[in-house]
Amino acid sequence: MPDWRETRTETMLQHLGEGTHVYGAAVPPIFQNSTFIFETWDGFREAMEAQFDLPTPRDKCNYSRINNPSLDLVGEKLAALEKTECGRFFASGMAAITTGIMTCVKAGAHVVCVDTCYGPTRNFFSEYLPRFGVETSFVIGTDPQEVIDAIRPETTLIYLESPGSIVFKLQDLEAICTEARKRGIRTAIDNSYSTPIYQNPADFGVDIVLHTATKFLGGHSDIVAGGLATSKAIMQEIMANEAQYFGSALGPFQSWLILRSMRTLPLRVKQHTENATEVARWLRERPEVREVHYCGFDDFPQRELFQKQMRAASSLVCFETVFQDEPTLRKFTEALRVYRLGVSWGGHESLVVALPFKPMDWQEERWLIRLHCGLEHVDDMKADLDQAFALVR
Ligand SMILES: *Cc1c(COP(=O)(O)O)cnc(C)c1O
Repeated sequence: MPDWRETRTETMLQHLGEGTHVYGAAVPPIFQNSTFIFETWDGFREAMEAQFDLPTPRDKCNYSRINNPSLDLVGEKLAALEKTECGRFFASGMAAITTGIMTCVKAGAHVVCVDTCYGPTRNFFSEYLPRFGVETSFVIGTDPQEVIDAIRPETTLIYLESPGSIVFKLQDLEAICTEARKRGIRTAIDNSYSTPIYQNPADFGVDIVLHTATKFLGGHSDIVAGGLATSKAIMQEIMANEAQYFGSALGPFQSWLILRSMRTLPLRVKQHTENATEVARWLRERPEVREVHYCGFDDFPQRELFQKQMRAASSLVCFETVFQDEPTLRKFTEALRVYRLGVSWGGHESLVVALPFKPMDWQEERWLIRLHCGLEHVDDMKADLDQAFALVR
């Protein structure tokens, strides 16, 4: 059998770890069990000793809070996708994110974090971690020197999200990680927007790669889950501490669903991107639209960095309308039929949200409309937007 980790992504996703199951089943079963039984004293002792190792040998799983074949298999696939030694799934994106953060901080530590990261992550830094004596400085992030200048002697973590999920600003991963490594500071990134198909932050030196699997990895708006990919050394720390104490492992059934979803990830993101690119270009021509934010444009301000770090933009398009009053925004979003009004993204169905937004480098708050372009036909997406614009003209 080939080493599936060495094969192309599409091939790896169909085969890695899948060929070794009971009764000739074409698909791995769901190991829906909390505990594992051992025939011998020695077998039990060995499993206890190996419990914090990832990947766990299949016959050494011990207790499903720590490891389970369904959980471990999908974690190995994430590691192969992100080109890291280890991967693991958690009960939500936030569980993966807070696990990744907690393993990098202690009382007295300082964090540098990008201002436009996911809202609850930002609040975790600004509102929650101060309880434990951890302080955070927020940075715009587009200039690596600004990030480096925010480092203090007690900084232990630089937290990135490139691109952000609203106006899609990038951070220079290589420049930031090179400096962080020199100083023994860890780096983490929320890579949910790009997915491992379009960006592999470990290639640029990022230590911990985080995902909400609720979005693209799940892809069908039916699972809440999160993923973390990192080195063996950091994963061992996580297994013995955060995984053990917080106990937020993803359950076997959800793990199995993610495994199913990941087989089609490359196909799905490709179609999402094609649809979003066409919608973004179309929006730019509309008189009702003042500005369109999309990192896939040829004239995207950070085009060079985009081409270095990413293989494509994904499904999200954000735009500012000439109308900025709530009644008109309400009328517009409620009139949409293909784009349903709701949070989240990365699923098969198109979604829309309107949100007031004010990053550090904007003078005033602006209303933005964010579209997630799903897997419907793109002509129906444009027609939908067209009829809603007609109502507010
Ligand atoms: C949704 C989201 C998360 C949180 O993921 P959950 O699975 O909902 O906990 C984190 N980061 C980004 C960019 C997100 O959009």
